[in-house]
Amino acid sequence: MTTENLLTFDDTSVAFEAKSDRELKKTHFIFASMNNPLLVRVGTALTSLALKLKLPVKGLIRSTMFDQFCGGEAIDKCEKTIDHLGRYHVRTILDFSAEGQEDEASFDFTRDEALRVADFAKENPNIAFCVVKLTGLGSRELMARVQEGKTLKPGEAARFEAFKARVEAIAKRAYDNGLRFMIDAEESWIQDVIDGIAYDLMRKFNRERPVVYITYQFYRHDALEKMKQGYADLTAEGCFFAAKLVRGAYMEKERERAEEKGYRDPIQADKAATDRDYNLAQEFILDHIDRFSVCSGTHNEMSCALLAGLMEAKGLKRNDERVYFSQLLGMSDNISFNLAKEGYNVSKYVPYGPVEKVLPYLFRRAEENSAIKGQSGREFILIKKEIERRKANK
Ligand SMILES: Cc1cc2nc3c(=O)[nH]c(=O)nc-3n(C[C@H](O)[C@H](O)[C@H](O)COP(=O)(O)OP(=O)(O)OC[C@H]3O[C@@H](n4cnc5c(N)ncnc54)[C@H](O)[C@@H]3O)c2cc1C
Repeated sequence: MTTENLLTFDDTSVAFEAKSDRELKKTHFIFASMNNPLLVRVGTALTSLALKLKLPVKGLIRSTMFDQFCGGEAIDKCEKTIDHLGRYHVRTILDFSAEGQEDEASFDFTRDEALRVADFAKENPNIAFCVVKLTGLGSRELMARVQEGKTLKPGEAARFEAFKARVEAIAKRAYDNGLRFMIDAEESWIQDVIDGIAYDLMRKFNRERPVVYITYQFYRHDALEKMKQGYADLTAEGCFFAAKLVRGAYMEKERERAEEKGYRDPIQADKAATDRDYNLAQEFILDHIDRFSVCSGTHNEMSCALLAGLMEAKGLKRNDERVYFSQLLGMSDNISFNLAKEGYNVSKYVPYGPVEKVLPYLFRRAEENSAIKGQSGREFILIKKEIERRKANK
């Protein structure tokens, strides 16, 4: 498809319409701070230390990074954010983002939390999907052992069954409540296990409509083939296929591990190859839209514009329920709000959880938006542009 006449996302007045001048200044301050690599490095280290020493820094985190990227500390505390996004026709994906728990009681807690979200979502039309990271529901070490084909000891086998039962309980609740349920993608050394569970749940719950969504990471050179194969297998069995597409969040870790252990790097040779496969996947899906539903999870303007263009070329309505665009809360509002204004289905991941437990998530956002990787954060540039625009119009 050609790139002429594609949608653009330059209108920062739409992107930041909901922010007062004061709020915009605060956002500018946060992104300006993150744009400083030294500040990000020192800030993340000091924050972790301060929390360990029980210094009173929670309030500061809450009113800055947490406010920018998270909905609240609990489901009901996210209602303001959900309503706010809803006013601009942007729907919410509540994402319980407590990370780093590795015991059975925490896994049960995360399952119960996901069930609470599914019940909350049933009553709230502004919630688009339920989502989980499977490492919140079971041991990542166990998943790695299963993927390596190791024989599990009886206790381990029972824990693995308990893990699968937790995931299925959430999928069933989503199905019973008329919702859709996305399973996030994680590291390649546990991803086969995650995919296996996702396919099994699709077989169970995607008979009449798409309920369970698998996630493919297109920074992996095998993702496009895997997606096509998954689609062929599952639709041959009479299921609706559904996938979230992302580029992938663990590139450095993947490369380092492959080098350390001496196996072939699972990541594409370069960014252009990742972009190419991501966009080819969108084309494949639109060519098979009768049985394929998609959530395009990206901050990449070209991929979003291409998907919108493909929908038009296929004669789909902009709000066709089979196609969703999705971004993270606090990022790429220029894409989310412009797409929603044009009538497309848009949703934001809204992470929530206790401040100290969502810190790893916040640190990832800080690093992503800093100039650590040698490029100025794109959010920072957009906010500056909007501040300049408002100044000029005064
Ligand atoms: C709604 C939503 C849900 C998400 N869910 C998941 C999930 O379940 N699992 C997950 O892993 N991530 C997830 N992510 C994060 C996602 O994978 C990306 O890390 C992030 O969105 C940045 O990619 P992009 O498409 O937005 O933009 P871009 O800025 O265009 O792409 C950046 C991405 O390109 C890839 N890349 C960069 N350099 C290279 C290179 N040299 N070679 C090859 N590839 C390269 C990397 O994946 C990098 O993150 C999610 C993101 C969103 C918005």
